Amino acid sequence: MKKDRNKQTIKNALRFGKITNVRPLTSSCYETCEWCAKEIAYGDAALTINRHIEHMDRTKSYPDGVVTVDQADVLLTLCAECGNALDVDALKHILAAPIRRPR
Ligand SMILES: [Zn+2]
Repeated sequence: MKKDRNKQTIKNALRFGKITNVRPLTSSCYETCEWCAKEIAYGDAALTINRHIEHMDRTKSYPDGVVTVDQADVLLTLCAECGNALDVDALKHILAAPIRRPR
């Protein structure tokens, strides 16, 4: 049951582009897990799923290319335990699905 709710959370995060965390934070934590609401403290491992708008350039210093991130948005933040439970293959499948655009 919880797994289905987690999948829905991922779908909503992708659909709306961003989940806003409104929980108050203590001084020792900088974020809360968006699945289990556990506080994530500075120094704790965490998993984030991000949306980057970026471009690649080639320069003399970086002839193989260097990426510049123009905009970054955090779509989902999970504690280490929830992050380890994330079904990465299912997420890749959702992200790789073709988008049906209105005609
Ligand atoms: Zn968690």
